[in-house]
Amino acid sequence: MNATSDQSNPVATGGCLCGAVRFEVHDHLMDVINCHCSNCRRIHGHMGAYTATNRENLVLKQSDTLKWFHSTTDETQNVLRGFCGNCVSSLLWVPRDKARISSAAGAIDAPTGLATTGHVWISQMGDYYEIADALIQHDERFARAD
Ligand SMILES: [Zn+2]
Ligand SMILES: [Zn+2]
Repeated sequence: MNATSDQSNPVATGGCLCGAVRFEVHDHLMDVINCHCSNCRRIHGHMGAYTATNRENLVLKQSDTLKWFHSTTDETQNVLRGFCGNCVSSLLWVPRDKARISSAAGAIDAPTGLATTGHVWISQMGDYYEIADALIQHDERFARAD
């Protein structure tokens, strides 16, 4: 997550709507998981679609407007949700005690090469939509395989 001198080519780049926050990913991005929890639905306006990588692989290139909201109601304790303070794009989800950082899939520049593979927190999904795909569904969190 810290800016480093890593000059290797990123496997992905991403950022916010206004362009003030930009980041690079320097290793494998995981499959996209749709999170239906009430927190994601509030901060994204709907479910959250997240990819993830190990923290050291995500390098912030421009972050002057990046703000962190400490979410105390996420089921995963001590989560920091990162967003752009200028355009309010929701960008990052960072559980403090884990090695992973999640990025909103929509923040990744196309072509992402990613695919959505599942749904989590079905137990909290909204009552205003249905899931119309056949992807795996978890009532609560899904621990990504190491
Ligand atoms: Zn922005
Ligand atoms: Zn969620």
